Amino acid sequence: MDIIQYLLSFIQYQHQQICWLLNFICRYIPLKQWAFDDSHSPKYQKFKVDELPVIKTFVKQDWQFLLEYYTWKYHKSLKPVQRRNGKSIPEDTICPLCGAPHHFIYDNNGGNGQYQCKVCGQTFISGEVASAPVRFICPHCGKTLVAKKDRKFFRIHKCVNPKCPYYLHNLKKVEKKDLKEDYGKNKYKLHYIYREFTGRFLYHGFKFTT
Ligand SMILES: [Zn+2]
Ligand SMILES: [Zn+2]
Repeated sequence: MDIIQYLLSFIQYQHQQICWLLNFICRYIPLKQWAFDDSHSPKYQKFKVDELPVIKTFVKQDWQFLLEYYTWKYHKSLKPVQRRNGKSIPEDTICPLCGAPHHFIYDNNGGNGQYQCKVCGQTFISGEVASAPVRFICPHCGKTLVAKKDRKFFRIHKCVNPKCPYYLHNLKKVEKKDLKEDYGKNKYKLHYIYREFTGRFLYHGFKFTT
């Protein structure tokens, strides 16, 4: 067989292969459907990135002024927090919103660093958040997000409102049998979540490069 004939037969063979592949693609690969319907299934909800929350910064308030106002309005003064069992909170804890000292700060979860101010009602977490307070608001229902977990580089803020339309919408998509399972609701990401990346992230980056 000379080379021309060989090449011609080889081209014929390739042509057959191409036809077979085209046929296969047309039959089995949904070209118009890159985003498979599957991707809307609640099973993949964990990979979904939620849109940004509404971010609210504080208007600073003055705790002494608020105390005077309280006295004027209710004809009695606001007493410092009574602590049971002689428990105390760190003396340098102050309210990030109104500046009230530790005497007026409730310990909200038994020493784990969540506090509430008796003067202005603000809840906050000890540490860096107290110095740069921002409030994250769920874009779906307008409720304040609750700081849930501190991961290494970010903090998770979650909308825990059981009537949040985002949550209810996702809940509808989950099959009833999954909800009955243990952790059924936890298996899928149903609530609105915002990951706040913390400054330490950059700090480490600098540390490694210098
Ligand atoms: Zn306060
Ligand atoms: Zn919400």
